[in-house]
Amino acid sequence: MEIDLGPKAKAFRDELRQWLEANKPDPTEEDGSEGGAEGRGRRAAMGIGPEWQRWADKLHEARYLCVSWPEEFGGRGLGGIEVAVMNEEFARAGVPRVTRGMGEWLVGPSIIVWGTDEQKAHFLPRIIEGTDRYCQGFSEPDAGSDLASLKTRGVVDGDEIVITGQKVWTSGAQMANMMFCLCRTNPDVPKHQGISYVLVPMKREDGSSNGFELSPIKQLSGTAGFTQTFITEARAPLFNVIAGLNNGWRVTMTTLGNERGGNATTQHVQYTRQFWDAVELVRTKGKQDEPLVRQQLAWAFTRTEIMRFQGLRLLSEVVAKKEPGPASSINKMFWSEYAQRFAEIVMNIRGAEAMIMPPQTPDQYRPDRWQSDFLSTRSVTIWGGTAQVQRNIVGERVLGLPKDPSKEDERPQR
Ligand SMILES: Cc1cc2nc3c(=O)[nH]c(=O)nc-3n(C[C@H](O)[C@H](O)[C@H](O)COP(=O)(O)OP(=O)(O)OC[C@H]3O[C@@H](n4cnc5c(N)ncnc54)[C@H](O)[C@@H]3O)c2cc1C
Repeated sequence: MEIDLGPKAKAFRDELRQWLEANKPDPTEEDGSEGGAEGRGRRAAMGIGPEWQRWADKLHEARYLCVSWPEEFGGRGLGGIEVAVMNEEFARAGVPRVTRGMGEWLVGPSIIVWGTDEQKAHFLPRIIEGTDRYCQGFSEPDAGSDLASLKTRGVVDGDEIVITGQKVWTSGAQMANMMFCLCRTNPDVPKHQGISYVLVPMKREDGSSNGFELSPIKQLSGTAGFTQTFITEARAPLFNVIAGLNNGWRVTMTTLGNERGGNATTQHVQYTRQFWDAVELVRTKGKQDEPLVRQQLAWAFTRTEIMRFQGLRLLSEVVAKKEPGPASSINKMFWSEYAQRFAEIVMNIRGAEAMIMPPQTPDQYRPDRWQSDFLSTRSVTIWGGTAQVQRNIVGERVLGLPKDPSKEDERPQR
């Protein structure tokens, strides 16, 4: 169902629909790329791969990348409603809304809030063009929820900062060429006050590693989407420190707010599509008249609609305040717990068949799409701040409940 979002949104929808009709890639086009539809889908979501590179270039030319960024920084200054329209139209056309990943979603918005004019002029166009592809260097073996305990050190050497330490769970590190990295630049002050936020090149100009060693971690789903990341004397110009030395925590809060809530309008599209695919599955299994299955599907559909309206509500707040506030934690909690529960429901509907891997060679480990969803959604209540930590944030910073007495002196967590 299309909601009437007013004349401005309708004009935008008409323009975009026409553009998509004229420009969308032919889905039957054989491109010879690896991994079949699943591989292409994964690469598309990250805006990479030969077939989607052409599509990404087209979107770039037409200025359909980084659309929520203000126009002065190369975006379109789109508000929540237009972004929602855009998601709906791309889903309707059956083409991925390629994004610049963490660069678009996390780093760019943080530079826009905290960077100097020179930093904005240097870093933002590189994200839009796809020159800089970022990964997030926040978590460490002893600093996850309690992120401010991080130990990676940053030492100033002339006009450079030299970084040494270990990060973990670094998603997409193998495909990135830049890390937005937190390091401790002053160990002698309270822990939130001695942290710097640095944009670190992962390679030197001659193509050799800038002190980065990546050790992939294999996940339940069989893929290795993240790494342990060992950093030995990686160098970055001081120009790459956002908001100045020892001011990184403020920037971090902006980044984490965007991580929890910045993609709020996109979730319902993905989950609505997944819902209808599951309905199709139920029909092929002849279970459409089973009352329990119907009840579970009704439960799921209601939640995808709530997600859609919650997304619009949150984005109205972002437009008014320029960045997502603690209420974005409600969004993170809601979609991540839904995704897990829905994946379980589909596994139950499939029954014993859900436990059998599709035919494959013995050296392969490739779950099917629903098995993959079931396994990979185990992690969604962990990354971006765990569901328990989101509840703390909602309790303390949205509802105004008293703090955990043992943590009264501490600043907010991840
Ligand atoms: C798939 C995936 C991708 C990731 N990608 C990245 C990435 O790209 N970059 C990056 O930097 N990190 C990434 N992470 C790391 C992620 O941010 C951390 O795993 C997360 O913040 C939790 O930290 P932890 O694993 O150290 O768990 P811990 O903080 O040790 O928590 C352990 C348990 O204790 C609970 N707990 C902790 N503190 C509290 C509290 N105060 N109140 C109540 N309960 C609490 C937690 O909820 C959890 O259940 C990723 C993680 C996953 C799973």
